[in-house]
Amino acid sequence: MNDIKLALLGSEGAGKSAVLVRFLTKRFIGEYASNTNSLYHKRLSIDGRQLNLEVFDPCSQSGESRCILEEPQDWADGFVVVYTISDRTSFLNAKNILAQIKESRRETCKGEAPICLVGNKQDLCHSRQVSEEEGRSLAQENKCLFQEVSAAENYLEISNLFTKLIRHVMEQ
Ligand code: GDP
Repeated sequence: MNDIKLALLGSEGAGKSAVLVRFLTKRFIGEYASNTNSLYHKRLSIDGRQLNLEVFDPCSQSGESRCILEEPQDWADGFVVVYTISDRTSFLNAKNILAQIKESRRETCKGEAPICLVGNKQDLCHSRQVSEEEGRSLAQENKCLFQEVSAAENYLEISNLFTKLIRHVMEQ
C-alpha cells in the first residue's frame, strides 16, 4: 500500500491540529485556525518505501468530528485519537471515540485499524488530570499504541508516533 489515510479525532481543543502541524512542519503553531475541515497531503519515505500520506483533521467546533468526511472511521486506514492530559473530559471523550471506531469498523466489516492514543500537552503536567498509567491502560484495553507528547515542546516524539502508526498500517 502506497497511499495511507489517517484521521485525527478528539475533543475540540485537545491539540489535534497542533500535533499534526508539528508533524508536518516541525513547528508549533499556537493559535491554528481550525474552524474548517482540512485534508493534508505529505509524501514521505519510511523503510525505503515512498508513501502518499493523507491526514484528515476535522473541524471540531461543534464538538463532533464529522464534517466533510461523513464517517472518518470508514475512510481512514489508521487513527490518531488525541486527548489532553490536563482535561479529564477529553480523556473520557477519547474513550468514547475508541469505542465508536471499533463499532463502526465492525458494522462495515472493515476489520481493525491501527490506532495511536495520544495524551497531549505533557508540558502542562503541573495540572495533570489523567495519569500516564490511565492512558496506557486505556490503550492496552483497546490494543492501541500509546504516547504522551507535547505539541508545544517536542517534535521527535510526535514524528516517532506517526512513523510507528504508519508502519502498523503498512503491515495490515
Ligand atoms: P484542536 O481543536 O484539537 O485541533 O486543538 P488545537 O490544535 O487548535 O489546540 C487548542 C489549543 O491548545 C491551542 O490554544 C493550542 O495552542 C494549545 N495547545 C495545543 N497543543 C499544546 C501543547 O502541547 N501544550 C500546550 N501548552 N498547549 C497546546
